[in-house]
Amino acid sequence: MSVSEAEATEKTTNTIQKLLFTPGPLTTTPTVKAAMQVDYGSRDVAFIQTVKEVREELLKLGGVSQEEGYESIIMQGSGTFGIESVLSSVVPDLGNLLIIINGAYGERMAKMAYVNRLIYTELKFPENTTPDLDVIAERLASDKSITHIAVVHCETTTGIFNPVQAIGQLASKYGKTFIVDAMSSFGGVPFDIKASQADFLVSSSNKCIEGVPGFSFVIADREALKKAKGQARSLTLDLYTQWEGLEKNGQFRFTPPTHAIVAFRQALKELEAEGGVEARTARYQENYNTLIEGMRNLGFKEYLDKDKQGWIITSFLYPENENFDFNEFYARLNEQGYVIYPGKLSQADCFRIGNIGQIYKKDVEGLIAAIKRAKAAMGF
Ligand SMILES: *Cc1c(COP(=O)(O)O)cnc(C)c1O
Repeated sequence: MSVSEAEATEKTTNTIQKLLFTPGPLTTTPTVKAAMQVDYGSRDVAFIQTVKEVREELLKLGGVSQEEGYESIIMQGSGTFGIESVLSSVVPDLGNLLIIINGAYGERMAKMAYVNRLIYTELKFPENTTPDLDVIAERLASDKSITHIAVVHCETTTGIFNPVQAIGQLASKYGKTFIVDAMSSFGGVPFDIKASQADFLVSSSNKCIEGVPGFSFVIADREALKKAKGQARSLTLDLYTQWEGLEKNGQFRFTPPTHAIVAFRQALKELEAEGGVEARTARYQENYNTLIEGMRNLGFKEYLDKDKQGWIITSFLYPENENFDFNEFYARLNEQGYVIYPGKLSQADCFRIGNIGQIYKKDVEGLIAAIKRAKAAMGF
């Protein structure tokens, strides 16, 4: 090993834990990380039991049950794999997927539909507004070919909360299958699957449930799921067959993310110990309020109007000052132990700060102090 390699190794192993103010992966607890100290074989009885528990717990978190006709499916890969699994498995060849878009994650669904050669219709709205329900209703009334609707709940591009419940009611009224990307909100924002009439809800291990990355999960209406049989356009992302496999013997078709799943079960226990989704929501809201107040005091402005902003992640406009440079700003925060996120907006220069994960009010205050120091040093 060369000297510089040795130094790099030492740096990564002795590195201090930075706080992640991002949309994921997020800061996790030492106990969630410690749960990964055991290696399980994929056929190990204890592991299979863990998978079963996690699947049951996910339904409970969604406020639904198998008796009521819902199923949960775990899919290897990051959150995007889960969305692609749903889109590519449930929309039939002659279906038409209406994709409601007001940010990069909505755009990503359109890209998936394109790559998978689905028939799809894009309905775009500006990134700083919620989708117009009248426009959606009009489209549903006039285009009878539409069979499915997909929308993002918390569009992580801006942090806007989209009105999924109202869109779900329209989907139900017009008899369409409803797909929700609740990636960055599930577990950190109360979500009523039944009231929103969601047939498929997708989220992942490393967002508001505060597990480590490795898989996504889908909560599905069983009847809607059954229609996906034999319809998948990919072997690995076949949602129906994945479900069938998990139901048959509790096993995954291909190597499961064993460590991520045991960590996730621990994360679910810690969510419950915190007081469930309600308590977690309250902590995230407190983080968010502390963030906004601190940033406004430093002269920063949010991209979204406050009434549209959720409490997961916030886009801040670049300060109008020639001394501001995002890369330098990022590096100065990073060396103080705080990781923020670049923007993803097509129309405005922004950076993003998330306030989910193992982050508390005092951590947000620490971040604000670090931003104040960076601001002074850079002179903007
Ligand atoms: C994080 C996220 C995803 C998935 O991203 P991955 O990088 O694949 O985990 C999808 N949609 C939204 C809204 C997200 O916030």
